[in-house]
Amino acid sequence: MTSPRKHGITTTLLHSDRLGNPEHGSLHKPIHTSIAYGYDKAEDLAAVFQNRKKGYAYARQSNPTVAAVETKVTALEGGTGTVCFGTGMAALAAAVQAFLRKGDHIVASRYLFGNTASMLNTFALTGIDVDFVDATEAANVAAALRPETRMVLVETIANPVTQVADLAGIGELCRARGLLYVVDNTLTSGVLFQTRNVHATFSVNSLSKHFGGHGDALGGSVTDMGTCDWTRYPNIFEAYASADPAQRALLQLRKKGLRDFGGTLSAQAAHSLSVGSETLALRLERSCANAQALAEALAAHPAVGAVHYPGLPAHPQHARAKALFRRPGTLLSFELRDAASTFAVLDRLKVAVLSSNLGDSRTLVIPVAQTIFWELGPERRREMGIAESLVRVSVGIEDTEDLVGDFLQALG
Ligand SMILES: *Cc1c(COP(=O)(O)O)cnc(C)c1O
Repeated sequence: MTSPRKHGITTTLLHSDRLGNPEHGSLHKPIHTSIAYGYDKAEDLAAVFQNRKKGYAYARQSNPTVAAVETKVTALEGGTGTVCFGTGMAALAAAVQAFLRKGDHIVASRYLFGNTASMLNTFALTGIDVDFVDATEAANVAAALRPETRMVLVETIANPVTQVADLAGIGELCRARGLLYVVDNTLTSGVLFQTRNVHATFSVNSLSKHFGGHGDALGGSVTDMGTCDWTRYPNIFEAYASADPAQRALLQLRKKGLRDFGGTLSAQAAHSLSVGSETLALRLERSCANAQALAEALAAHPAVGAVHYPGLPAHPQHARAKALFRRPGTLLSFELRDAASTFAVLDRLKVAVLSSNLGDSRTLVIPVAQTIFWELGPERRREMGIAESLVRVSVGIEDTEDLVGDFLQALG
């Protein structure tokens, strides 16, 4: 395991490029645009290919600008190393592709980002079986385990109804059974939640969301949390089985997940994400405070029927969220008593933007059943606890009174 960070997260993120000795004392890691790297000695080129020497060969699998972001994510998540990808979906797909084989089984939360659920259903067609369970109770995960189960995949705070998985209980279960525990930390990030505290194997992030924070670049990451003894994991390819055990999974992820499938993060996007991440902790402080204020205002409004936010005492996992997370997050959802008035209320918003993204500096709002969860159909939505009139709000960093005032005027 690595030692904890020497400085706080903002100090670490701000200074990490400079401390890596970039060219000319540059404060940002430069954007390296070359996709290939030249060597003077054939032996050096061979050593890089054989993983005996650090170096760059072809940018599909590594690039100096991307490597600088990987260093930042590793520090943020508190892991031993990170591989970045072009999107969060590419990161999640790689974590599955690189470590599971035909006949293996995954237990996943029933409350998942819609595209992640869709992706797992696609894997199920190729011989990696999937069961979806209510992950707010570790017992449900335990009941779904089979001899061929190798992985459990959950999100910290589920989007859009904000259920909080039994992260610690599932972590204990995975540790006892030798299962890979993949925690999608996108909604919380290393600022609000350290997945190592629940023995996660991999911490996955969509960097497109809070990390970058400005809605201008896509990216994803998988961080090895250093909690797994890779000498005991069966699905390690022979080519990587002789590598340092601590590096084995990262090497396999980079080769089998990134090199072979090509979901590469561009240097330009890496730069945008890196600059955005400098204010990550500051933005989260503000948007979590805004989310709490908005959730309380909505819950007190007579037109609102239900508000889902882990920071409200009435939330079913309020105590768990309080115990696990530094703050209860930036995402909330609500239902109006008069479901038929939902679109009219949304149309009256002037500050919040009708948009499908989340984790942006701006507050974004979306009616869920008619958009991001439309393809799943009404039955699956019911299973996931998504009401047809549910509205999701990704709370941004606007001035609190402007934001709360906007929703109150829209509700009328
Ligand atoms: C957005 C998101 C993803 C996918 O990330 P992209 O960068 O959009 O591919 C995965 N998981 C969660 C929880 C997300 O919010």
